[in-house]
Amino acid sequence: MKIKKSLGQNFLISNEIINKIVDSITANSNDLIIEIGPGRGALTKKIITKNSYFLAYEIDNDLIPNLKLLENEKIKIKHEDFLKANIKEDIKEIPFNNLFIVGNLPYYITTPIIEKIMQEDLKLTSLTIMVQKEVGERFMAEPKSKEYGYFTCLLKYYFDIEKLTLVPNTAFFPKPKVDSVVLRLTPRAEKPDIDIKKYQEFLKQVFRQKRKTLKNNLMSENWEEIKAILEKYNLSESVRAEELTEEILLDIFKTLKK
Ligand code: SAM
Repeated sequence: MKIKKSLGQNFLISNEIINKIVDSITANSNDLIIEIGPGRGALTKKIITKNSYFLAYEIDNDLIPNLKLLENEKIKIKHEDFLKANIKEDIKEIPFNNLFIVGNLPYYITTPIIEKIMQEDLKLTSLTIMVQKEVGERFMAEPKSKEYGYFTCLLKYYFDIEKLTLVPNTAFFPKPKVDSVVLRLTPRAEKPDIDIKKYQEFLKQVFRQKRKTLKNNLMSENWEEIKAILEKYNLSESVRAEELTEEILLDIFKTLKK
């Protein structure tokens, strides 16, 4: 069957990696696992041995007939673009306890997929996702590194992130140009009680020009209030946006918006 590069089709062929991904999903038979982009079923066939409820979204019509062979009363395959799916509607009849999402996806939709999962406000237990190595580094970046920025902080607001394993490009067919990493994102138990839309706007403002000083990027805000918070953390007024931890940024945000 023709491999569609435009759909980011690099299929997993390494049993070791498949096992590591599937083992990260701690689901039992009363739980639901959603797989995004099952492709030729490399992960699917192993996942369904857990006997959980299972729902997969695959965009490529040519792959659907083979996947449909796996269907039964607990296993459903949908021919749909995950980014357009109405997940809450699709799962509302399924009597599951915990929800797990897993995906080895085209890298160009990694960020939109994670944004969709954050916005849907699902009661998620974990999201295991394969991402390009460099993207993984950005997601887990620490302050002062060049990868640290808006999306890192937004992710840290929602999730604790663990790196499960590095994946060499030889684990796929066809072989992609880049190496990958498998991450597990677990929703934070206690998220700060803030208006997330406003926090996103604030983070965008903070990281507008992240090599510049915070003062430069927050020119329109009350600098005296911000200065007091910086002093609390022994930081100077000329601190750069990229030097601030998510904790300090949240502190500044809460003070300015209260
Ligand atoms: N999970 C399989 C594996 O590990 O071998 C396939 C991985 S392949 C990198 C990505 C899969 O996602 C392909 O089967 C592709 O057709 C599918 N896909 C791409 N965009 C999608 C989307 N928006 N919604 C659902 N599936 C998508």
